[in-house]
Parts: sequence; C-alpha cells; structure tokens
Amino acid sequence: MRVDFNVPMKSGQITDDTRISASLPTIRYLLDQGGRLVLASHLGRPKGKRSAELSLAPAAERLTRLLGRPVGFVGDCVGPEVEAKTSALQDGQALLLENLRFYPEEEANDADFARRLAAGAEIYVNDAFGTSHRAHASTYGVPEILKPAVAGYLLEKEIKNLGRLLENPEKPFLLILGGAKVSDKLGIIKNLLARVDMVILGGGMAYTFVKAKNWTVGNSLVEEDMVPTAKEILRLTRELHLYDFHTPLDHVIADRVAADAQHLTTERGTIPQNWTGVDIGPQAIEEYEDCIRRARTIFWNGPLGVFELEPFAAGTMAIARAVAASDAFTVIGGGDTIAAVNKAGVADRISHISTGGGASLEFLEGQELPGIAILDRK
Ligand code: AMP
Repeated sequence: MRVDFNVPMKSGQITDDTRISASLPTIRYLLDQGGRLVLASHLGRPKGKRSAELSLAPAAERLTRLLGRPVGFVGDCVGPEVEAKTSALQDGQALLLENLRFYPEEEANDADFARRLAAGAEIYVNDAFGTSHRAHASTYGVPEILKPAVAGYLLEKEIKNLGRLLENPEKPFLLILGGAKVSDKLGIIKNLLARVDMVILGGGMAYTFVKAKNWTVGNSLVEEDMVPTAKEILRLTRELHLYDFHTPLDHVIADRVAADAQHLTTERGTIPQNWTGVDIGPQAIEEYEDCIRRARTIFWNGPLGVFELEPFAAGTMAIARAVAASDAFTVIGGGDTIAAVNKAGVADRISHISTGGGASLEFLEGQELPGIAILDRK
C-alpha cells in the first residue's frame, strides 16, 4: 500500500501527523480483514541518496501509537532484508518500508525497481493522493504489474470531493490562489479560467500579475520570465469576459521579510521602491470577502501573505475565516493552506481538506492523474 507519510519534521520529530491519521481507515480495514500489510512512502527530497534525517522510522513509531498495535519497520525498501521481513508477516500485521526516494529509481519510475518493490505482494492499494500526479515506481510502475490495483478510502474520498468541483459545480465558482511560486501555478490558472466565474490572487505570486499590469512592485517576489504569461492570462480573462479576476487593490509592505520589519499599508496597488509586498491590504480583504460571500463553490490553494510571520498573517486569516463562514461547497488544498486554516481554528468548517497540493490543482485542471488512471478500481 502506497501511503503519503511525507510529514513535516523538525530535528527527527514529527511536528504534524495529519497525513498519517488520514490513512488510518484504510490501514485498519486491511488489517481487520487479515491482510499482511506492507506500507511504502516517500519523505522529503533526499534526491536518491540515503539520509538519516529523512528516515521514516519515526513514522512507524507514530503509526504504532495512532493505530494501537505494533507496526514493524525495515531500514530499506527493496532487497533481502525487506524480503525476509515481508515474508515473515502474519495475518493482520503491518510493516513500514524505508523512504522510497533513497533510490533515484523511484522518481525515474525504473521498471526493475518497480518489480523489486512489487515482489511477493498480491494486491496494490494507493492511498497517497498527494503523489498521484506523479508517475513514479511506487505510484505507477508497481500498479502496472501488480493487479488488482485499487484505491484506498482516503484516495476515494479525494476523488469524490474534488470530482464535485469538476462535475457541475454550483455557480459562481471562485478560485483563490496564493503562495510563492507563480511558475507552479500559471499553467493551472490558464486551464481553469474557462471553468471558474471568479479568481482572486494573493501571496508572492500576485506580484508577477501586478507587474504584468505595469504597476510597480518594488522588491516584491516576481518571476520575470513569467510576466509575459501573466500578461497573456490577463488578455484571456478579457476575451472570456471574466471580469471578476482580482489582484490586490492594496498591500501590506515591509522594508524586509522579517517579523520585526518596518511595515505599512499602501493606498493603491503599486509598491514603492525598496519595499516588499508581504500581505494583501484592508481594501483587498474587503473586496475578496465580498467575492467569497457571493460564491457557491470555492477552491483555495496558497496563503495570501507571509502568514508564518504574525504581522503579515491578517490577509490569510481573514480569507480563512470568510471561507469557513461561507455556506458554499469549500475545498482547500496544500500544506500551507491547511496550516493556515488550522491557525485560524476553522478547519472543521471547510467542506473538504485535500491532502494534496499540486495533485489537487492538477485534478482540478481536469488532467488525468497517472497514479489514479492506472488503478483497476478507483
Ligand atoms: P507555495 O509553496 O508556492 O504555495 O508558497 C507558500 C509560501 O508562500 C508560504 O511559505 C508563504 O510565506 C509564502 N508567501 C506568501 N506571500 C508571500 C509574499 N508576499 N512574499 C513572499 N512569500 C510569500
């Protein structure tokens, strides 16, 4: 079973075990049926090399605690030690393998590595939605050869809820995008323009659009080579009569990105020299809250400011509260956005919290995710 135990860690300690808890229903079910369960996951970006800090051993301990029964661990994901331990499993016992990405073959979807991972197994279960948009050995190569290949309960829940956004979403459909990396999200925005009725942008990525409007951005985060694409998107919104496409009307700016920086609010959408945009301003918040009130379906990915720093968290917190207060069907995705709704204390008022960031965006574009497409029963 491919799980997503890619949990945040700080000096060898798991700081948030949401992702482990999310797979408990599938793990419990399989063990209760007498399954002999081998769990595999990646953790972080070890780039194909062993790394003590990125060992999954702490995840086995945490899973043991959450599950209330012992889960074994083996310090490799293929090879003789793994074969010995998996073949010794009894009915209802579980074993977690070491980080798949210690081998470059995992991300390369190497056929021989996939065969070694699949060795001895009889059924494949995918419960790792967050990596289903990648055709890696554990998400694609293994289910190609190991049948039946089926979806776990977490994956099923993601497909059902995100599917509601694709099949006749109630209108108006609002897309909220923020975060730092505009290059990750431009293709997605372009593909989603025809599906949505309103778009609001914030966070670092908004400044590439502010610049594309020929406004000044000071020292704000801008991906220069993406400005032409942002311009093209702005042109497309006019062609599609998508008038509700908003960049921030005003900003919180700082003389540097630090909690004790000097900061102030701009009156308009431009940012003076030597200043950096770090949050959306009060006028932008008001305008965005109004869009959120009008929406019947909302998808949100990415914080609207540097919300990890208290003085620049107001915009993201206001949006989190407004989304939670809405009676629309609301879906959020991505690690930072999940952290933001947790920080605002409103997670229980969101209709669906997706465990996948990039995967949920690609799903929403209507793209077939390879890790889901390859399954016999989704
Ligand atoms: P991403 O991984 O692209 O979704 O980006 C998430 C990160 O974007 C968070 O850590 C935020 O602190 C950061 N972020 C949000 N707004 C800004 C901004 N105005 N300038 C720089 N970084 C930002």
